[in-house]
Amino acid sequence: MTSNLMTIKEKIKGAEKACGREDDSVTLVAVSKVHVAETIMPVLEAGQRIFGENRVQEAAGKWPAMKEAYPDVELHLIGPLQTNKVRQAIDLFDVIETVDRPKLARALARIFKEENKSCDIYIQVNTGHESQKAGIAPEETDDFITLCRNELGLPVKGVMCIPPFDEDGAEHFKLLKSIADRNKIDIISMGMSGDFEQAIKSGATHVRVGTAVFGKRPGY
Ligand SMILES: *Cc1c(COP(=O)(O)O)cnc(C)c1O
Repeated sequence: MTSNLMTIKEKIKGAEKACGREDDSVTLVAVSKVHVAETIMPVLEAGQRIFGENRVQEAAGKWPAMKEAYPDVELHLIGPLQTNKVRQAIDLFDVIETVDRPKLARALARIFKEENKSCDIYIQVNTGHESQKAGIAPEETDDFITLCRNELGLPVKGVMCIPPFDEDGAEHFKLLKSIADRNKIDIISMGMSGDFEQAIKSGATHVRVGTAVFGKRPGY
């Protein structure tokens, strides 16, 4: 696992260089979903601090102990969030990458206020218009960002997408980058194990890599 981590970091460095971007301009989010603490610990010990999980419940089971051991861990929620899990989610996660609808945005704003708490928010965009996939439609994204920022006062720091599984990511990455640029959003979360180098070339600031760091997920 640790050697995988080093390999990915080298590849990220190479991709940064290849497209004339600064060293360390890309952040690795190590996607540890499904993996147990015994698998994650060596990667923590090797210095990785930013992790992605896709289920609130699962993360709540395994991360509090690891966060106690490594208080500078930054956890990103990269899976769908139901409004009834918001309170639990903001207790555990530092970044919620999957804000994609007004109902969820309003729940976050209300509970931030009630709990006197906040965390960074990314807007998930359904760049492929896939009906089974989460994310706001690209053509509705500007209005949604305006709602989140101006009406709800949410700290919108980034955008994220998960391109259709069976398509070349390039067009989707380009679309997400253009949405970020015109809304003056700095963070662009795109690219996974199979396409993170391509995503970096398209302007990703954050890549979410699971399999290439931890190996195949058990049960998949
Ligand atoms: C699982 C997952 C990843 C990581 O995928 P890999 O192909 O294992 O790198 C990235 N983003 C999201 C949203 C995921 O659910």
